[in-house]
Amino acid sequence: MNPVTILAVILVLAGFIFLMLSLRPVRQAMDLVPAAFQLQWRILGLLILFFCLGYLFFDLILLTDITFPLELVTGLVFAGGAIFVFIVINICHNSLDWFRQTDRKLRILNDTLEKQVERRTRALERSSQFLKTVLDSLQDSIAIINVDDHTIDNVNASFLEEFGLSEKEVVGRPCYEVTHQRRTPCAPPDDECPMSHTLESGEPAMCEHRHRSEADGHHYVEIHTVPVKNSDGRVRQVVHISRNITKRKQDELRIRHMAYYDSLTGLPNRTYYRKLLARSLDHARRHDRIMATMIIDLDSFKRINDTLGHAVGDSLLKSVAKRLRFALRSSDCVARFRSDLGNTISRLGGDEFIILLNEMTRVQDAAMVADRLLSELAAPFFLEGHEVVVTASIGIAVFPADGDDADTLFKNADLAMYHAKSLGKNKYQYYTESMNVSARERLTVENDLRRALARNELVLYYQPQVSMKTLEIRGLEALVRWQHPRRGLVPPLEFIPVAEQSELIHLVGEWVLHTACRQLRKIHAAGHRQVRMAVNLSNHQFTREDLVEKISSVLAATGLEGRFLELELTESAVMQNPQQAVCVLQQLRELGIHIAVDDFGTGYSSFEWLKILPLDSLKVDRNFISGITERREDVKILEAILAMAESLGLAVIAEGVETEDQLALLRTLYCSGGQGFLFSRPLPAAGIMDLLRTHGGSLLSATNGQ
Ligand code: C2E
Ligand code: MG
Ligand code: MG
Repeated sequence: MNPVTILAVILVLAGFIFLMLSLRPVRQAMDLVPAAFQLQWRILGLLILFFCLGYLFFDLILLTDITFPLELVTGLVFAGGAIFVFIVINICHNSLDWFRQTDRKLRILNDTLEKQVERRTRALERSSQFLKTVLDSLQDSIAIINVDDHTIDNVNASFLEEFGLSEKEVVGRPCYEVTHQRRTPCAPPDDECPMSHTLESGEPAMCEHRHRSEADGHHYVEIHTVPVKNSDGRVRQVVHISRNITKRKQDELRIRHMAYYDSLTGLPNRTYYRKLLARSLDHARRHDRIMATMIIDLDSFKRINDTLGHAVGDSLLKSVAKRLRFALRSSDCVARFRSDLGNTISRLGGDEFIILLNEMTRVQDAAMVADRLLSELAAPFFLEGHEVVVTASIGIAVFPADGDDADTLFKNADLAMYHAKSLGKNKYQYYTESMNVSARERLTVENDLRRALARNELVLYYQPQVSMKTLEIRGLEALVRWQHPRRGLVPPLEFIPVAEQSELIHLVGEWVLHTACRQLRKIHAAGHRQVRMAVNLSNHQFTREDLVEKISSVLAATGLEGRFLELELTESAVMQNPQQAVCVLQQLRELGIHIAVDDFGTGYSSFEWLKILPLDSLKVDRNFISGITERREDVKILEAILAMAESLGLAVIAEGVETEDQLALLRTLYCSGGQGFLFSRPLPAAGIMDLLRTHGGSLLSATNGQ
């Protein structure tokens, strides 16, 4: 054996040993080799093994006589082949490993994905359940509509409830068909309907519909449509939300009604009237027509309200509104021309109404309507057990002659209405330019009166009040006059009402009270200690809070005892607020002051309150006295007043006694006191002092009456 063969055998053995070493127990032994060298060791072993096997294969099995160095080359070729095989095996081995790992990873991924899908599915189920619960709990009816065939994909519980259908009966059917089965739109659905808009534009839309349903009549629905889009922006479904807004609509209508209509009479109120007037003027201007504004104010409504109470006052206003409306309707026959605006009536507040006459061709048409309104009001009203007669004063201003804007027309109709009142009420009056003049005059009077107070131009006249039996002067009534530098002596009725329209009445009233009390002190000083002073108190003064304070300070300033002062109040002043009157009158009583009701019989007095109020006397109005000698009825009225006064323990003074016959009759009726031209006209201070001095306090000789 040559050395190479020996080397090959040795190497084969070494390779074999090495191969053995690669077996399990051997491998364990290999573990002794540092891990970093294990692969190199193994490769080295295999190389040697293959080299030797190759050599042996050629040398021993093929018996080829290969000489060195071919033997070496052959061994190297085998070694190269072995390396190649090794690489291939390694690659296969690695690939298998890789496949195995990938398979394992895929399995893990699959498991994870499955779990995720399961989790997501559960979450989806939960969220769809949640969505369903939310949708079902909503009061709005919701339907999800497929855009391809407009059929319903899904609905919520409210939708089913509203239409009384089950899910099966709804899903898959065209939405329009389902909704219109129960609701009939009051107006045909228009092109603007959001059921089409959203489909075309892909934008959300909203509209309101008024529907009529067999079950609950008219109702209002607000419809919202919201598109559900694909990722490419195409509308896939439309969410159709229909909300019943009937309650909101009704509330809106109610609020609108409250804002524009008077709650008592149901007529348009002042706010709405302004709109109506603007509309009327616009219409009249555009069509070159005339129209009229008529202001209607009830005469003496305040007195009715004060005496019969607010409940009666309210029902009177309601009944008046009804009659005016009726009269306006029935006066349609007056109209020669029909305006699409019609004639309207509004309540401005209090007892004031306003009519806009749009249907007129001649100025006189307004007078015909006014006549009809007045005659309709003339019949008595029967309200809560009371028979009430009421009249009205009407002022008319015609567009464009009396004003071509809303404010001027209103102002002029108002002036005309006041003019109608000043002419004796219960009439209508067209506006004339002169009325503006008289309004200006009123302003002039007010300014003059203010100056008059400063210049001391007011004077007091005094008229005796006598005992009917003895004609002894018991008291004097202080009556104011205005010593005007140009107009001469101006009677109170020409300036007191003007003063009452401003704060001036308080200045005038205070001056009168002061002057009268001072004058009485002089009369008492002259020896006529039995005389009392009566002072007229306007309603405005009576309602002033500091009245009692003011009067007691005047008494204190003039040193007059309260028992010598008598205050004359009108029925309306007392009856306006009887509870408050009782309180004020009691305080005045505590100062010793006497209280008389002036012009008794011209107003409304509640007998109930007359019993309670702390009064001393009633002054029967001149109108009841002037006719007693001619008219039996006047005597009857006077008898009734006297009997009532007696039962209430009140003294009676007959006002305006002018004749001996009246005096004689009053004496037979046992009327206790009197005042009038028969005894004396109102006299200035000097005159009354003379009268008292001459007649010694009794007018027996002056009248010759026995
Ligand atoms: P009155 O308080 O009823 O006063 C009686 C009025 O009747 C007085 O008119 C008087 O002159 C008039 N008179 C008296 N006797 C007769 C008569 O026999 N025949 C006729 N035809 N008339 C008679 P006068 O002075 O013009 O006063 C009118 C009204 O002015 C008064 O009515 C009173 O309401 C008011 N007045 C007068 N002075 C004042 C005042 O100082 N303050 C207030 N607030 N009002 C006053
Ligand atoms: Mg009087
Ligand atoms: Mg009087």
